[in-house]
Amino acid sequence: MPGVGPRSAERIALWMVRARGDQPEQIAHAITDTRQSIHACYLCGFFAAAEICEICADQSRSDVEGEATTNYIVDLLKGKPITLTRIARGIPAGGGLESADELTLSAALSGRTKL
Ligand SMILES: [Zn+2]
Repeated sequence: MPGVGPRSAERIALWMVRARGDQPEQIAHAITDTRQSIHACYLCGFFAAAEICEICADQSRSDVEGEATTNYIVDLLKGKPITLTRIARGIPAGGGLESADELTLSAALSGRTKL
C-alpha cells in the first residue's frame, strides 16, 4: 500500500487485532465499496463514479483554453533547440503525479507526443 511503510503496517495490523467494535470491518467495507464504484473516467482517466467524471460531464467547462495556451507556447518556442512533449492520456488534468500508480505513470511517459 503506497505511503505505508513496514512500521506503519505493523501498527495498523496491531490496531485491527486489538480494536473493539466494528471499525476494522467498516474500513474494509469502505475500501471494497470504493474499489467497486470508482474507476477511471472514459475521457480523461481521472477518478469517476460514472463512465465520465464530473469534470468532463460539466457542460460549462471548456478544454479549449488549455489547448490555446499549448498552441501559444508551441508558437513561442518554435525554432528553439528544445523538444516539447505533451503527457499522454491516463494522467488526469489537474491530477498529481504522486497519486498515479506505476503502470499509469509509465504509460503516460512512454506515450508522450511531440508538439
Ligand atoms: Zn473525465
